[in-house]
Amino acid sequence: MERIDRKQLVRAAEDRFDLLVIGGGATGAGVALEAATRGLKTLLVEKHDFGAQTSSRSTKLVHGGVRYLEAAIKRLDRVQWNLVKDALKERAVFLRIAPHLAWKVELLTPIYRAFEIPYYLAGLKLYEALAGRASIGRAYFVPATTAKARYPQLKPEGLKGAVVYADGQFDDARMNLAVALTALEAGAVVLNHAEVTGFLMEEGRVVGAEVKDLLSGGTFAVRARMVVNATGPFTDRVRQLADPEAEPMLVTSSGVHLVLPARYAPMDTGLLIPKTEDGRVLFVLPWEGYTLAGTTDEPAEVTDHPVPTAGEIDYILRHLNRHFALEVSREQIRSAWSGLRPLVRDPRARDTARLARDHVIHEEKTGLVTIAGGKWTTYRKMAEDLVNYLDKTRGLGLPKSRTAEHVLLGGRNYDPAKEEELALRIDPDTARHLAHTYGDQAAAVLRFAQEHGLFARLVPGQPFLEAEVVWAARYELAETPLDFVERRVRLAFLETEAARKALPRITELMQKEKGWSRPEAERFLREADDWLALAP
Ligand SMILES: Cc1cc2nc3c(=O)[nH]c(=O)nc-3n(C[C@H](O)[C@H](O)[C@H](O)COP(=O)(O)OP(=O)(O)OC[C@H]3O[C@@H](n4cnc5c(N)ncnc54)[C@H](O)[C@@H]3O)c2cc1C
Repeated sequence: MERIDRKQLVRAAEDRFDLLVIGGGATGAGVALEAATRGLKTLLVEKHDFGAQTSSRSTKLVHGGVRYLEAAIKRLDRVQWNLVKDALKERAVFLRIAPHLAWKVELLTPIYRAFEIPYYLAGLKLYEALAGRASIGRAYFVPATTAKARYPQLKPEGLKGAVVYADGQFDDARMNLAVALTALEAGAVVLNHAEVTGFLMEEGRVVGAEVKDLLSGGTFAVRARMVVNATGPFTDRVRQLADPEAEPMLVTSSGVHLVLPARYAPMDTGLLIPKTEDGRVLFVLPWEGYTLAGTTDEPAEVTDHPVPTAGEIDYILRHLNRHFALEVSREQIRSAWSGLRPLVRDPRARDTARLARDHVIHEEKTGLVTIAGGKWTTYRKMAEDLVNYLDKTRGLGLPKSRTAEHVLLGGRNYDPAKEEELALRIDPDTARHLAHTYGDQAAAVLRFAQEHGLFARLVPGQPFLEAEVVWAARYELAETPLDFVERRVRLAFLETEAARKALPRITELMQKEKGWSRPEAERFLREADDWLALAP
């Protein structure tokens, strides 16, 4: 393994590029990988960390969207129909190129009124049929007794049965990192903690950007033939840096998730609550040894740190208690977080739940190209469309996209059977965590822990090893304790308080690895703790 030196990346960034991509979420990282693999000299800059915003706060489903299919049928909307179909195709690609980070999960849809059985069964069978050859499992009906056995947490009263169907599930932050690191491997320069603060303009055209290195405080200028804005909820802010008059094109809504103890979901089955009080759906999923429940959809202001409101938390708890035999109270919540949905504005839509999840590619008169909207599942296709757009409009003569076959770092020699080999050397929970986090590099991480004597757990009862902090700082561009605890491992998203307790040791390990001065280490520790303290 080769150490990744950020200082070297900063030096490499002060150059001329074919393409500058602003924003290192799913969309921007996907564009950087697509562009680099098609031969463009590419720079990706991200203000916080890869996936720090919406892309680490999703429901973590690789899906076509059952709800969007229902909407497509009810409104005879061909565009929505095609979106679901395309997303189902991408679902199969996603599972193939990230086999260690994405897997199949079965979801159960409980039914309480007998006449609704044919409706849900037909709908979910259609959902799977629409996937065609990209299908990952059939949809089938189970009677109430089987539904209860499969999902014992459900209230038994009035349950008439359930429809079970398959979708994908994944680790969104690790996936985002894998896409960024694969782009780096393909020749792109990828830089986190680097914010675009303004544009370089010549004769009214964008020819590059001013970048602030948020770690050193320095600024530098980047020149690029093409500049892409992939900043999700921040899309309009960045557009207005180039043209203060630019008409806003996004609305944002907040989506909250709660993390609860494992006992609220069976290990292998999710739950789709098909109707909420505001006509949406709610998911309850097994995730990383916990239960993930969400989400909400409330209009929200754009901010770097969206925080769930008491109303949003109560909304989820209320729906869980309507369906669960076991009471779910506030005390059970281990973590709660909000993500901002970047939705492309449709002036005809009355509420954000009805805005299309499609993506748009929009070019300003300054030449700045914005890509926004879409969803995680389709990040690769969005990136392909964007680079195709640049190829066509600029006559670049690029080769065809190859990213549908380009397996991401960690996935190439991944073999689920190797998890058992790891389990001979360490406990099964840690073996599973290492295999799913690092894929074919899991054995190397374990060796690293042995060689450095860093076998201790960061938090008692959790599978995270101290060695992972040093590994992430050395090989995975973790630059702050927060990068590690939120996105290299998911501890802060699972148990916020445990993450806060682990911060001093994480900082100590990173300080040694990065050579931080004492005041620097103290600042990083304080910033991480202040950030996590904002969680409800
Ligand atoms: C609650 C919720 C649940 C979801 N669930 C799912 C799901 O289950 N499945 C699915 O497929 N999709 C899901 N989605 C959609 C999916 O998460 C998003 O479509 C996707 O993450 C958007 O990625 P993005 O890169 O466009 O935005 P972001 O991830 O927000 O990335 C934009 C990045 O730009 C950076 N940035 C901003 N300004 C600057 C600047 N000036 N300079 C440099 N960088 C900057 C930000 O720091 C940020 O990291 C969900 C969305 C939400 C909100």
